[in-house]
Order: sequence, then structure tokens, then C-alpha cells
Amino acid sequence: MENGHDDEQGAAGAASTSGDKRCAWCGARNPAGAERCQQCNAAFPNPEVDAALQRDSEERIAEALDVLASQKRRRPWRGR
Ligand SMILES: [Zn+2]
Repeated sequence: MENGHDDEQGAAGAASTSGDKRCAWCGARNPAGAERCQQCNAAFPNPEVDAALQRDSEERIAEALDVLASQKRRRPWRGR
């Protein structure tokens, strides 16, 4: 069985720009679904996770600000 040229088809054939990820650390190319860089093992940012994290932290910040505001209102001793 000749299995040597399987990779070439995917890499050179369809030049899909959105296909692979480029590592921000070492610049190595990795498949789109890769969670880590095959070269330096750096973890890739996951857009979905990032969005969820951002939403989560924004909620937390809003909550914290709310708590802060109500605490300030409740403690007039720090007003002056
Ligand atoms: Zn890398």
C-alpha cells in the first residue's frame, strides 16, 4: 500500500485560507481543528470559548459593579 502522498492532497490541493490555523507563538501551521500547536504545544484560543468567557466575565463585572454600588449606598460612612 502506498500511503505516502495522502497529505499532499489536503495541503496543496485546495488552498483554503480558513482551513488551518497559524500559531501566534511559533508561526507553525496547524489543522483548523487543532486545539494545540503541533510545533510548540501552545493552546490555541477557541473563539466559542472566548465568547462565552467574555460574556461570563462581563456579567460578573456588571454584577460586581452592582454590588459595589449597593454597598456604597449602604455604607454612608465612607461618603466623605
Ligand atoms: Zn506554535
